[in-house]
Amino acid sequence: EALDRIAQLEPKLKSFLCVTADRALEQARQVDAKIAAGEEIGLLAGIPIAIKDNMCTEGIRTTCGSKILENFIPPYESTVTQKLAAAGAVMVGKTNLDEFAMGSSTENSAYQVTANPWDLERVPGGSSGGSAAAVAAEEAVVSLGSDTGGSIRQPASFCGVLGLKPTYGLVSRYGLVAYASSLDQIGPFGRCVEDVAILLQAIAGHDPKDATSLNLPVPDYVSALRPSLRAKSGIKIGVIKETFGEGLDPIVEQTVTKAISVLQELGAEIQIVSCPRFRYGLPTYYVIAPSEASANLARYDGVKYGFRHPDAENLIEMYQKTRAQGFGAEVKRRIMVGTYVLSAGYYDAYYLKAQKVRTLIKEDFDRAFSQVEVLVCPTAPSTAFKAGEKTADPLSMYLSDLMTIPVNLAGLPGISVPCGFDDQGLPIGMQLIGKPLGESRLLEVANAYE
Ligand code: GLN
Repeated sequence: EALDRIAQLEPKLKSFLCVTADRALEQARQVDAKIAAGEEIGLLAGIPIAIKDNMCTEGIRTTCGSKILENFIPPYESTVTQKLAAAGAVMVGKTNLDEFAMGSSTENSAYQVTANPWDLERVPGGSSGGSAAAVAAEEAVVSLGSDTGGSIRQPASFCGVLGLKPTYGLVSRYGLVAYASSLDQIGPFGRCVEDVAILLQAIAGHDPKDATSLNLPVPDYVSALRPSLRAKSGIKIGVIKETFGEGLDPIVEQTVTKAISVLQELGAEIQIVSCPRFRYGLPTYYVIAPSEASANLARYDGVKYGFRHPDAENLIEMYQKTRAQGFGAEVKRRIMVGTYVLSAGYYDAYYLKAQKVRTLIKEDFDRAFSQVEVLVCPTAPSTAFKAGEKTADPLSMYLSDLMTIPVNLAGLPGISVPCGFDDQGLPIGMQLIGKPLGESRLLEVANAYE
């Protein structure tokens, strides 16, 4: 059914960079065989899943939406996809993304522009736009995205699905192509909270292959869903004052405000909290993320991976031509910014300063979480915008992630929950933010709301 749906919708939607029909049918047959033999089947047995094309899949092209990895076939499997296969999931394909996950609309893909299933002229958000659109359009039951500054939550909000960015270190990054290593996390998309909880259950947990992976037991996320908020009346939820007002689309403000009053009716105690340094998140991120990206992307030199320019006279010229032709404009912009802010003489003024502000942002969250258990705000300042609307203005594109970025800087878990529609029928998302490893609490609140 998923493959049929993909065949029917892909000409217009373009969520997938590659459809792995043969592998999917083979995985499905294996599940059938297990059932026939009376063997135990996994948590995700037979469930069609789409994977963002920046997670390595052995023997299957992994492009990161970049020309520089056009012909890259990984010789190994990422930990998350390995875990999914072990749980019986059926991978239907690899989804479109902004090149190296840099972007907020999926328009930075070197291959195609994915449409928003709610309005084909609009973007699905990004950078995990393909994974969000695929789930919204029922081309897959669930999918995986990655989130460095909002790339799961913002497309979830634009496409009317749920998207969760876990606590930094909860899900292994082994085999995830690095963008900004201190911020990147893999997480699930789904159409209901239970699906998100099940998928998180399948991918979370310690991995010795990722040095930043947390060595802690994984709780049972699915059973955390059972008690409703009513049973736990009095849970304190804080509304982040600074995320409302200027710059926020009034319809988003109204809809999220209404959703907050629903949480109150469900038994939550609503409190206004202040995170005064939240607004420095964006400039801080755009120093730290490009710095890490410029270092991570140094490996694409035409020698080790993917594309190599065919006519160069010497090694330096080969590097130059390969990178000039292989990378797109936004990736080059990030490499230049990162290289500049890390260079001798500027490091203290920019990178070091940004790291200090990062700590201050984290302190704002710590203070808020001494008063409440969960924070709430809009996921994005607007609903899905039209394709092409922001491509000429990087700054306005960057502003899409105003409310999601501080969460990555502090390493916290965040989930976008659909909470209504604007006057054009476009979905709106509310973001719930948790304490470190507070995923169960987030899922519980989201479930009660749903
Ligand atoms: N839009 C942000 C960026 O371009 C975040 C991307 C992400 O989370 N991968 O960097």
